[in-house]
Amino acid sequence: MKSHAKAVVIGGGVVGCSVLYHLAKSGWTDIMLIERSELTSGSSWHAAGGFHTLNGDPNVAKLQAYTVQLYKEIEEISGQSCSLHLTGGVMMADTPERMDFLRLAHAKGRYLGMDTELITPSEAKAMFPLMDETNFVGAMWDPVEGHLDPSGTTHAYAKAARKLGAEIVLRNRVVELTQEVDGTWNVVTERGTVKAEHVVNCGGLWAREIGRMVGVELPVLAMEHMYLLTEPMPEVEEFNKSTGREMIGVLDFKGEIYTRQERNGILLGTYEKACKPWSPVSTPWDFGHELLQPDIDRIAPSLEIGFKHFPGIEKAGIKQIINGPFTFALDGNPLVGPVQGLTNFWCACAVMAGFSQGGGVGLALSNWMVHGDPGFDVWGMDVARFGEWATLRYTNAKVRENYSRRFSIRFPNEELPAARPAQTTPLYDTMLANNAVMGDSWGLETPLWFAPRGSEPKDVVSFHRSNDFRPIGEEVRATRARVGVTEIANFAKYEVSGPGAEDFLNRLMTNRMPKTGRIVLTPMLNEFGRLIGDFTIAKAGPRGGEERFMIWGSSAAQKYHMRWFEKHLPKDGSIRIHRFDQTLVGLSIAGPKSRDLLQKLVDVDISTKAFRFMDFREMAVGGAPCMVNRITYTGDLGYEIWMAPAYQRLVYKAIKEAGEEFGLVDFGMRALLSMRLEKNFPTWFRELRPIYGPFEGSMDRFIKLEKNDFIGREAAAKEQAEGPKLRRVSFIVDAADADVMGDEPIWAKVGGKDYGTVEKPHGYGAPRFDAGGKEVRGSNAAEGASAVRGIVDGNWRVVGWVTSGGYAHYVEKSMAQGYVPAALAENESAGLFEIEILGHRRPARINVEPPFDPSGEKMRT
Ligand SMILES: Cc1cc2nc3c(=O)[nH]c(=O)nc-3n(C[C@H](O)[C@H](O)[C@H](O)COP(=O)(O)OP(=O)(O)OC[C@H]3O[C@@H](n4cnc5c(N)ncnc54)[C@H](O)[C@@H]3O)c2cc1C
Repeated sequence: MKSHAKAVVIGGGVVGCSVLYHLAKSGWTDIMLIERSELTSGSSWHAAGGFHTLNGDPNVAKLQAYTVQLYKEIEEISGQSCSLHLTGGVMMADTPERMDFLRLAHAKGRYLGMDTELITPSEAKAMFPLMDETNFVGAMWDPVEGHLDPSGTTHAYAKAARKLGAEIVLRNRVVELTQEVDGTWNVVTERGTVKAEHVVNCGGLWAREIGRMVGVELPVLAMEHMYLLTEPMPEVEEFNKSTGREMIGVLDFKGEIYTRQERNGILLGTYEKACKPWSPVSTPWDFGHELLQPDIDRIAPSLEIGFKHFPGIEKAGIKQIINGPFTFALDGNPLVGPVQGLTNFWCACAVMAGFSQGGGVGLALSNWMVHGDPGFDVWGMDVARFGEWATLRYTNAKVRENYSRRFSIRFPNEELPAARPAQTTPLYDTMLANNAVMGDSWGLETPLWFAPRGSEPKDVVSFHRSNDFRPIGEEVRATRARVGVTEIANFAKYEVSGPGAEDFLNRLMTNRMPKTGRIVLTPMLNEFGRLIGDFTIAKAGPRGGEERFMIWGSSAAQKYHMRWFEKHLPKDGSIRIHRFDQTLVGLSIAGPKSRDLLQKLVDVDISTKAFRFMDFREMAVGGAPCMVNRITYTGDLGYEIWMAPAYQRLVYKAIKEAGEEFGLVDFGMRALLSMRLEKNFPTWFRELRPIYGPFEGSMDRFIKLEKNDFIGREAAAKEQAEGPKLRRVSFIVDAADADVMGDEPIWAKVGGKDYGTVEKPHGYGAPRFDAGGKEVRGSNAAEGASAVRGIVDGNWRVVGWVTSGGYAHYVEKSMAQGYVPAALAENESAGLFEIEILGHRRPARINVEPPFDPSGEKMRT
């Protein structure tokens, strides 16, 4: 074993071997993988070996598609077979709601380049005759599904990595990790210490323990999982003989079951409701190639449904039940990337579907390590997406919830209950008393809407407009007509201070920094000129002679943004960044009467001239020290008021009392989002993501290319010079009783005209490797794009995709935002566009100017 390496990968499961292979392929050959026992000594050896491309997050789906394409490549390089069976598979819907879900998935698939097809239960039965098709109402066919040999596949990655120069050390446990002042890691193993520049945690079942070696509690938990294998079945043999084909894979939502052919019999696995964590606090180091005791009672309810739906299987004898542990993060997606607060400590763990996702995880992580950027939009699996609130017990509750609903539908208005409430503001009880329906906003309880007095504060979950529709409409109308108050504690808040703070922010942000007492809105770009943030920044008065800026941003991106800020901070400690999290909370008041209301609570003049639109001031509100921004996301006259939590009740009470004479109402997050729609305002992670350039995102007025050299300026200048290929636009949709949710295809009647690229980007230009192993360089947004170009229906063609939308209650229109080719972005013609909602194409029209207050007069008065 060598004593130095550029990178040490800990763990020889399928994920560690994939990371090793991709690093070697990127040109890092001074790398080693250290495995405690033999390869596949965690979950990998007893996996059912199934793979598929579908995922709730389209970007993760794309990386799954890459994984499946990769198997041929590693077989060729290694000479080791993965025993690939590309059978295709179906998802079976037993209710109209589940069929709606499949229609949505199919619609998304249109621009992801997926070849899915909606089929009848009888068509599904023809490919899997063991089912009773009368239990189902419909199905979706996906040709890119199948199964493989988990052990062979892991060894294929490992052999391919070795051939490219990587070293693999077996039977040697990593026992400790320490870091020297210069950043070098000491990887202490049973057989000596290796000095490494980078360490990657691919510890699978032990990822949590490896995290603890560096003081990090990763939100990952192992669950027991069972699948059964039947004795050989004559029906299976007969089918194979008569059709010359293998039986397909089947996923049954109702039973939370997956099943497929295994040799001459059937494999059937369940995600049972009565699920069970394995080693919930710490994983024993001596756990080896062992299986857990099967517990058939636990899976009996699923089996009962399974045998009813697939009577052919019930008759077969059970040969074996496999019970093994594997790991999950809270939402079932992996934890990948650099851990915030540490240097060169990387994660690739909580990969619950290693044979669907392992390749994509390896590719993204190796890009990140070698080139400083994953090269894809990997937010859906970024280790930074969970906060400190994801403790051991929180993780336990959420992972159990996620496991037991693995194949359940999540409705767009559905809030999941496990581990809640976690964080609450001082107003939590008051909001409940006000009949608020609460939602989870990055671990914080946040009012979504207020149910009418006397009715139960609860969402009726649905793909269609629901019981919140009317109350939200009332909140919006009252706010726009008079004044409303809402909690905004769920924004991210930071303070940047120190000499040179302004230069630092000018280097990171695209807009000029404000003068003292003023506010700017500004995107942030990465080196490739892609959007990685969108902030409100105010310059506060100096403290102790030092420059001071307040920053507000997306709550969910707090760790993601802190990681970026820390990476770019000067090493001399001259600039400090403080993340407030819940030590600063807020309230927003909005509407034409909001100034009159606020004036009653403050002792300074806040008239239009004295406190202008986009002003920032520290002032006492209702006697409490606060910071006030003259700005609101509703696009109306309004204010954001920020205070320490100890003052929040005082300020809220003062607002409520003073607001009585103006007809003040409470409004929730959903009303706020409805109001932003009618102003064409974008949201972070929906409209604005790292796959888009700033001009594509229609953020032109916040990009000051001439101000100074900021990160991403060159690429942004190029985008502007060449003209963006896509544009973010707003639509008014002729919807019925359902509005868009996001990710729906946008159709245009373009005839034979070609409007240039209409591809949804996934990659954004970091050097990386395509599915064929070819190195791809450049900064073209369409790299790694999905082929929506090919979807044609007569004169109609899919030209774009929806990012978000809903009902805009004040203007009484269903609205959507999304991306279309730039050449179409200002074409407001009726009859040109259609947006597919729940499988039905609805007429839509681009609306260049916001329907509410297009001149922006109201917010400026
Ligand atoms: C019953 C069952 C069925 C499944 N079915 C499927 C399926 O159909 N499809 C699918 O895609 N996935 C399936 N999975 C999940 C799949 O097995 C996992 O996604 C995958 O194995 C995760 O791989 P990994 O490399 O992250 O972790 P692991 O396989 O757990 O590997 C981690 C490795 O790290 C090593 N290690 C840990 N700590 C140290 C240390 N300190 N020093 C050195 N080495 C260390 C361990 O020995 C181990 O070899 C199934 C899992 C189970 C249990």
